[in-house]
Amino acid sequence: MIGKTLFTPMKELPLLPLKELILFPHMVVPFFADSAPLVKLLEEAHKGNQLVFATSLKKDVKNPLENDFNSVGTLAKILQLLRLPDGSVRIIIEGKERGVIQRFTPRKEGYFVLIKPIIPSRDNLPELKGLEKSIREAFKDYQGYYKQLPPEIVSSVEAATDPDQLVDILGGNLKLSKEQKIQLLGFTKTRRRLEHLAVLLASENEMLSLQKEINLKVRKRMEKNQKEYFLNEKIREINRELGRDEEDLDEAKELEERIRRKNPPQEVMDKAVKECRRLSKLQPMSPESGVLRTYLEWISDLPWSERSRDIKDIQRAARILDEDHYNMKKPKERILDFIAVRQLKANLKGPILCFVGPPGTGKTSLGKSVARALGREFVRISLGGVRDEAEIRGHRKTYIGALPGKIIQSMKKAGVMNPVFLLDEIDKINSDFRGDPASALLEVLDPEQNFSFVDHYLEVPFDLSGVMFITTANSLHSIPAPLRDRMEVIEIPGYTEYEKSCIATDFIIPKQIEENGLAEAQIKFQPAAVLKLIREYTMESGVRNLEREIGNLIRKIAREAIASGKLTLPEESDGSTPTGEALGEAAVSAVSAVLNENALEQVPGIEGGDPPPSAPSTTDREEPESPGPDLTAVPAALIPKADKPGKTAPFRYTVTPRSVVKFLGKERFTEDRVYSEVRPGLAHGMAWTEMGGTLLPVEASVLTGSGELILTGSLGDVMKESAKAAHSFLRAHAEEFHLPEEFPQKMDIHIHVPEGAIPKDGPSAGITLTAALLSALTGVPLREKVAMTGEITLTGRVLAIGGVKEKVLAAHRNKMTTVLLPEANRKDTAELPREVTSQMEFVYTASLKEGLAYLLPPRESG
Ligand code: ADP
Repeated sequence: MIGKTLFTPMKELPLLPLKELILFPHMVVPFFADSAPLVKLLEEAHKGNQLVFATSLKKDVKNPLENDFNSVGTLAKILQLLRLPDGSVRIIIEGKERGVIQRFTPRKEGYFVLIKPIIPSRDNLPELKGLEKSIREAFKDYQGYYKQLPPEIVSSVEAATDPDQLVDILGGNLKLSKEQKIQLLGFTKTRRRLEHLAVLLASENEMLSLQKEINLKVRKRMEKNQKEYFLNEKIREINRELGRDEEDLDEAKELEERIRRKNPPQEVMDKAVKECRRLSKLQPMSPESGVLRTYLEWISDLPWSERSRDIKDIQRAARILDEDHYNMKKPKERILDFIAVRQLKANLKGPILCFVGPPGTGKTSLGKSVARALGREFVRISLGGVRDEAEIRGHRKTYIGALPGKIIQSMKKAGVMNPVFLLDEIDKINSDFRGDPASALLEVLDPEQNFSFVDHYLEVPFDLSGVMFITTANSLHSIPAPLRDRMEVIEIPGYTEYEKSCIATDFIIPKQIEENGLAEAQIKFQPAAVLKLIREYTMESGVRNLEREIGNLIRKIAREAIASGKLTLPEESDGSTPTGEALGEAAVSAVSAVLNENALEQVPGIEGGDPPPSAPSTTDREEPESPGPDLTAVPAALIPKADKPGKTAPFRYTVTPRSVVKFLGKERFTEDRVYSEVRPGLAHGMAWTEMGGTLLPVEASVLTGSGELILTGSLGDVMKESAKAAHSFLRAHAEEFHLPEEFPQKMDIHIHVPEGAIPKDGPSAGITLTAALLSALTGVPLREKVAMTGEITLTGRVLAIGGVKEKVLAAHRNKMTTVLLPEANRKDTAELPREVTSQMEFVYTASLKEGLAYLLPPRESG
């Protein structure tokens, strides 16, 4: 366009005043004009195909003067003019050339100006090219930042062939200020225009990039805050779509809340929160969600922080222990010491109590009493036959149907962190390929570790350090040594007959009457009946069977009272066959309904203790235990005090030895095991078993043969060796004992130990075997009612043995009058109950010869 101009020199042109717009050449823009003179001016210019000069006002004023206009402007062509109904016009103008006002003439028709064209001057063309190039590049960046840039601008920039054209197009379309635009418009030198544009474009780019960066940062921050909200909303929406209602989502929240209320350690809470979130995202009916829900319910059901307050009154504790159990002086004292020490030092990491003794001696119930004395909750698990470590420690929750182990299950049951926890039969755990339960137990019982016991199912540590553990065992031998080391052993030996009858009368009978709902009835047991139960219906160290038999007896009494037919069951009964507990109460009310004394005689079987005529085995049986006439043979079972009709009368019954037979059937244990006749070759040993002590009869007989020693009765290795030692000892001392000369060569000796149920091993039968052998060889019976025990050596010494208390109690129970013990066991008899020591004779020996001499008084030689 250089050199070629549309200007007509000295020709005045109408002025088109622009407000904000700066018109550049090559720009096509619409324009509105509503002032009548301007409209007219424009119409005439359009009609005459005349150019106008468009320049902008410096500021918006009503009647502008020359100075109010920018002197730089653009020559413009009116491409189109449209008259609007309100008298205004809309024109489209195109910028053609730049110019400067030379002369300004205001007339009444409008403003007129004389223009001088701005002819661009160019030098140093390569520099211009370089500038142009860098502007084009900067524009590319600009496009990148300013996405809304109309595409036609981009294409016209690309199409521009002339540097001034480029400046005009960009100047007209970039977002520049009015002043910047006027400057761009006014420069004559192309280089200056390009430079100025380059600077403007660069600063614009910089600003845009900064803006973008800031936007990005702001967005990021906003995103972070909003993302969670957004995602949560999304999840909720998805859940809604999948048909899960809010309740399922609330369930996870509620579980979380329930767990939080239990105030668990932070680690547990963190895990719980994580799993609750996971639960809320799972399909509620899916198996996985079921597993997770059960898991979380377990967590929420465990106590975590609840504790009960200990009762610190030792006097009271002592009273409670006495209330629950007869005698047990030593165990009770040791328990009280233990409690006292624990209370002085609350968080004492003390040993674990272990009650050892035969079954039914009250170990479990003593544990329960300790809990009651301390005011603690009580839980108990039985370890008998536990082989699998998982029973203690649980299965991982990935297993189908997995559950926590017994320890955690019991802690849930306890509901507090500090219960008394009884581990029953700790000597009965086994280990095999499924892991070693003992090592898991070790972790439970070790105060150094048990504050963070990890159950496989729970996966989070559980604090067991507040728990008071008590264990029970029948024997110490089978407890794994590391476990045994942790425990303070309290021995609870078996009971004597006298002790048993006291326990029965003062504890078991009242308890059973109460438990069977006969509390209001007056059931009495004659001492002889109790003794009969002890002697002939049970044969045990403890009182478990005794308790069972007494329970049976009481229930049968109640049942017969109802079965009589004259007695009716209470109204509320559903008519079904009365059983167990229900019977008791039924009996009381039913029996109370009997108002007529005569009715009694018509009630067969209820009369106290009278045997039914159809039981001949008991009618003619003698009752030696029963002192004097059997008072209760008189109908005493039901003595209703029926002074007034409707008044209830207590149910009365006295249990006699005869009624025991009537209700429980024939005696179960007679003194069979003890051979009542004296025979050569028979000796009574005493054995210790887990069930308590027992008598161990040994029989020996001599046959002609070749000097063989035959052993039968499933003897263990140790016992077989004892038998051989006994045989050798007698051979060595054959002369002293006046034994037949040919016995080692010509006589077979058969030793048999009957009663298959007793495990027969251990060295303590040495003296018994020797005595039986000697008696068989000499044909002289041993002293009557003497029970013996003692290990022997080849040189004839008698060594100490274990389990003296249990063994002596067994001998006492079996009516032995004397026990022969090793000298070294003399001290052990000091702890025996008085009624045993006063009724039995004790003989001690350190020498086998002396012992045999006592058992088998020497015959007159010859
Ligand atoms: P263990 O655990 O030793 O096998 P249990 O604790 O089960 O024995 O006792 C059996 C029953 O005998 C319980 O009802 C218990 O109360 C009772 N018992 C045992 N010893 C005594 C005792 N010394 N005084 C009162 N009751 C006792």
